[in-house]
Amino acid sequence: MREGLMMDDHPLSLAAIVQRAETFSPDRAVAFRRPDGTVGKTTLGKCAARAHLLAGALRELGVGPGDVVGTLLWNQPEHLELYLALPAMGAVIHTLNPRLSAEELGFIIADAGDRVLVVDGTLLPVLEAIEPACRPDRVVVVRHDAGAAAASGDPGAAAASPEPGATGRGQQLGPGHLDYEQLLSGAQPLAWSMVPERAAAAMCYTSGTTGRPKGVLYSHRALVLHSICAALPDATDVSARDTVLPVVPMFHVNAWGMIYTAALVGAGLVLPGPRLDAVSILELLSGERVTITAGVPTVWMAVLQALDAEPDRWDLRALRALMVGGSAVPESLLAGFDRHGLRIVQAWGMTETSPLASVCRLPAELEDAPASERYAYRARQGRPLPLVEIRARGEDGRLIEWDDVAMGELEVRGPWVARAYHSGAGADRFTDDGWFRTGDVVRIDRSGNLRICDRAKDLVKSGGEWISSVDMENLLMAHDAVAEAAVIAVPDERWGERPLAVVALHPGMAADADELRAHLSRGFARWQLPDRFEFVEAIPRTATGKFKKTALREMFASGGASAPSPARSAAAR
Ligand code: AMP
Repeated sequence: MREGLMMDDHPLSLAAIVQRAETFSPDRAVAFRRPDGTVGKTTLGKCAARAHLLAGALRELGVGPGDVVGTLLWNQPEHLELYLALPAMGAVIHTLNPRLSAEELGFIIADAGDRVLVVDGTLLPVLEAIEPACRPDRVVVVRHDAGAAAASGDPGAAAASPEPGATGRGQQLGPGHLDYEQLLSGAQPLAWSMVPERAAAAMCYTSGTTGRPKGVLYSHRALVLHSICAALPDATDVSARDTVLPVVPMFHVNAWGMIYTAALVGAGLVLPGPRLDAVSILELLSGERVTITAGVPTVWMAVLQALDAEPDRWDLRALRALMVGGSAVPESLLAGFDRHGLRIVQAWGMTETSPLASVCRLPAELEDAPASERYAYRARQGRPLPLVEIRARGEDGRLIEWDDVAMGELEVRGPWVARAYHSGAGADRFTDDGWFRTGDVVRIDRSGNLRICDRAKDLVKSGGEWISSVDMENLLMAHDAVAEAAVIAVPDERWGERPLAVVALHPGMAADADELRAHLSRGFARWQLPDRFEFVEAIPRTATGKFKKTALREMFASGGASAPSPARSAAAR
């Protein structure tokens, strides 16, 4: 091979994106909403300047290159500061999902080796629940009382007296806790280092179908390339003229890349904090003249209801696109927003794919097609981004034709697709030549447009968050009265899917839905618990002895009004 030596081998480092943002877009607005509802304003430049101080303070605390810092934060300016500071100082940002159970969070913090945790004051109860089992070296708390707000130069928050309970506990620092603002006020700014491109920059965990959550480590190179390709016109189409509101939490796969993409192009940001109800989102979309937003379908269903109820209350003329993914986007949602002149663009991705891997944009030749054809196209998961390859493998092990008829498990490969999990778990999902088995079952049309038809993985996705059916079955079967248990996903208008537990009890033993739910709450967060339990005498099995979930879905998933005899039904909603 003849090397292209005339080209510089400069590393693809996130520090370059941060540097670009502070040099070329320092005045771009960053609006944010605090937990008490007040809206404040800062700029990318101010956040970057504070990120230098934060990096200096963290270095003083012993955070060095490669060290992992966990964050338990909402979409808020301090989270942005950590997104900027940690990779640019050579450390790793590990965003934690506060909706996981205490047990899962404790495992994840220990598995990642988080040295320091930065926690929002409103999330201190989450930390308290996990603290006996896991203690990072240091805990830094972002407080929202007047003193902390004054120190941060956030006049909006300082002026407002917090609603009782709105900021939760957390105004008091626990023993050994450090105050975020105090840390910054005493710090020396640290200069960025051009970290080698293969170094780790960020980390997220994905719910495993079985066993423990698995960590994905993103390299600088992956996130830089992801940011560039995500900004392309046929992807999210974000430019310096945009104002981006990520409703998707910053603890969900790097907020789908929206933060680094915005920093790269110099787009403004709106960070909604913990209030994600429809009216709060609509207020920010209209008040901050947001042009691009992103989130899971559940959020947009609620927003659509509010819009339908009061179509003239909000001015959304600036809004160019809603990027929607994480779960399938129903045609009714596309049509519902079209009625208000608002455009949903569906995207597909995974924690393992950084996450953006495909986007569905209507091709020019379909612009004038009948509405039914256009909606059918837009309800698909789209074509892969440049540099991402796709293929799918049928049950016979052969690659399927792209004829939109054959079905197979989707495999993806590309510069921002993981090659392994942290600590080597789940190795069977990666091939030696870089393909990752997604667990999504698809059809692919001739143009490469994906349609997800089924899921090969045993998971339930409720409101954009995962519930492991296998873990739930195992815990159910640990109950003395339970002989067999199978958990399936049932469609739900509000949450997309909800778990339904099908249970066979040991002869002569008793347990009702409430008792089983209480039993499950030992290992699962409250929102993860099944709304419905169905009691049967035996769970149907496949020829190989596995639970036949297809049969259970046929029996119960359509709403489960009638469980066939001899089942006893216990709808417990
Ligand atoms: P996560 O790793 O939590 O981001 O979840 C990734 C999974 O969410 C994918 O493997 C799919 O099962 C599902 N998913 C993501 N986007 C979509 C979409 N647009 N339509 C259907 N399922 C999706």
